[in-house]
Amino acid sequence: MSATLIDGKQVAAALRAEVAARVAALPFTPGLAVVLVGDDPASALYVRNKDRAATAAGIAARTLRLPAATPEATLLGMVAELNADPMVDGILVQMPLPRQIRPQAVIEAIDPAKDVDGLHPVNAGRLRDGRPALVPCTPAGIMRLLAHAGAPVRGARALVLGRSVLVGKPVAALLTNADATVTIAHSRTRDLAAECRRAEILVAAVGRPEMVRGDWVANDTVVIDVGINRLPDGRLVGDCATAECATHAAAITPVPGGVGPMTIACLLENTLKAASARR
Ligand code: NAP
Repeated sequence: MSATLIDGKQVAAALRAEVAARVAALPFTPGLAVVLVGDDPASALYVRNKDRAATAAGIAARTLRLPAATPEATLLGMVAELNADPMVDGILVQMPLPRQIRPQAVIEAIDPAKDVDGLHPVNAGRLRDGRPALVPCTPAGIMRLLAHAGAPVRGARALVLGRSVLVGKPVAALLTNADATVTIAHSRTRDLAAECRRAEILVAAVGRPEMVRGDWVANDTVVIDVGINRLPDGRLVGDCATAECATHAAAITPVPGGVGPMTIACLLENTLKAASARR
């Protein structure tokens, strides 16, 4: 392995400490409301981690739990109350939602000024237009990791593998706004390997275990592996075959310990940002 491992845990810890220090210096306490519908164990764990991290950063976090059978109108009513609550600066509704609730209806009901997940179309549009916005947490974390790795973004050829609303599209917008030359690849892309080989920055967000092989990566590429995939044997792997890719790459994020820890740290930063803008 010749690539430098980009330590997301360390970068996330530094960001969390920075947010805590900035929160401590505020004349008010930012508030974050996390809504969990149902009892999916993975979602419950995510929500608990978010609540704990926010509390540790001095943010007044509360988790609101609703049963799995909650009608959409009840959840929308709760979102409306949180929108109107002056003590709440950030609202996060944990996805996925039960079948009877349309996720887009919920996302669009959240006040864009409190949309700390950055998924409201107003924030997505502002991001696309290069205007100030609340940016989705994982893409924001990816940009921080690139900065930490010292990867030159301006003028670089960047390949974003995946075009989801949560990761691929917003990270492509952030890279474009930072003056990279961006290609977005997806399941209909011809010769994915050749597209990847042209990249100086490669962001993989496909959800396919170890799909990106070593010979897809050009020498000195910076590889950001967003994937979190659980193998049948219980191992957690990314979308890139890390050891193979690391023989060519200049730097690569490990899985776990790369992009993952950045997501919660950026949520805290978004809450601080939303609170500072609102109050
Ligand atoms: P998603 O919504 O499923 O999107 C996957 C994207 O990959 C789609 O655009 C899809 O193309 C493309 N794709 C799928 N199979 C492909 C193939 N064989 N060749 C080329 N492109 C292919 O996933 P996501 O929400 O963006 O998440 C991606 C991965 O990141 C998952 O492993 C997820 O667990 C992980 N993730 C991690 C974090 C974190 O905090 N670290 C946060 C979010 C997500 P089409 O559009 O053509 O279907």
